[in-house]
Amino acid sequence: MRARFGLPAFDAGWVWLAGAGPGDPGLLTLHAVHGLAEADAVVYDALVDDRILALAKPTAQLVFAGKRGGKPSPKQRDISDRLIELARDGKRVLRLKGGDPFVFGRGGEEALALVAAKIPFRVIPGVTAGTGGLAYAGIPVTHRDTNQAVTFITGHSAAGEVPDGLDWHAIGKGSPVIVLYMAMKHLGIIASRFIEAGRDAAEPVAVVSNASTPQQRVLETTLGAAAADVAAAQVEAPAIICIGEVVKLRQGLDWLGALTQGRTLDPDPLGTDHLVNPAFKDAVS
Ligand code: SAH
Repeated sequence: MRARFGLPAFDAGWVWLAGAGPGDPGLLTLHAVHGLAEADAVVYDALVDDRILALAKPTAQLVFAGKRGGKPSPKQRDISDRLIELARDGKRVLRLKGGDPFVFGRGGEEALALVAAKIPFRVIPGVTAGTGGLAYAGIPVTHRDTNQAVTFITGHSAAGEVPDGLDWHAIGKGSPVIVLYMAMKHLGIIASRFIEAGRDAAEPVAVVSNASTPQQRVLETTLGAAAADVAAAQVEAPAIICIGEVVKLRQGLDWLGALTQGRTLDPDPLGTDHLVNPAFKDAVS
């Protein structure tokens, strides 16, 4: 594979910081598959699918660095130290993270620790849940008729609270489509902030849990009802949440539902008199 695609050699003492995508092994990059095949140590997070770890060499050391069973996750510093230690031991270290390592994945922090320790590294981007996970639910994050921008937000600060460094009002007013990571816990508060900012409580929302895995579930709801519906349906984490008119496109683009449940797809999901969020009507007319 390496020669065929001109992939780089994985040298001893290097760390490859790679994204594993949202779950489906088919969404791995060739670089990530190559890294898995060559690594002596794979340091992985909770969101990395077992089918992906199964691609590692049988002799590879698998090091779990995530949160499991409600126990606190290892400190970021400890994970970085472990990477440095393994690399200094002459190992080829694959640091494997769910989605993309640089999207709400603390990949930058780990990479900076490697820089400080003078450990050579490579970054392998991955398919992030906010685009790829939604695509598996039949939702394009942008669509010409509905939105010319999209905002990705974390619903969880380092302290576990609703992030306070964001201008929620401005985002609610200014971003036609909003994609929320890690937002299940605070969904009620977040939705009410957007409604206060003028978003319609009836605006469509999709909550996609375990996207691209066999456990994928999609809940379609509205901004006003999202938190209650998520609780009632007992939707599990990890889930990616999309707010905006693009959610309606699912009626036409739920290719996975068509494939697995024989869902009939509507070629005109927005309807002839479709309308973007009234707040953005002027911008597109
Ligand atoms: N680096 C990751 C994000 C890590 S933050 C990425 O690029 O996707 C963890 C959050 O990502 C979860 O709380 C959830 O919101 C989202 N997420 C990751 N994998 C997911 C999946 N398979 N299905 C739904 N959401 C997912």
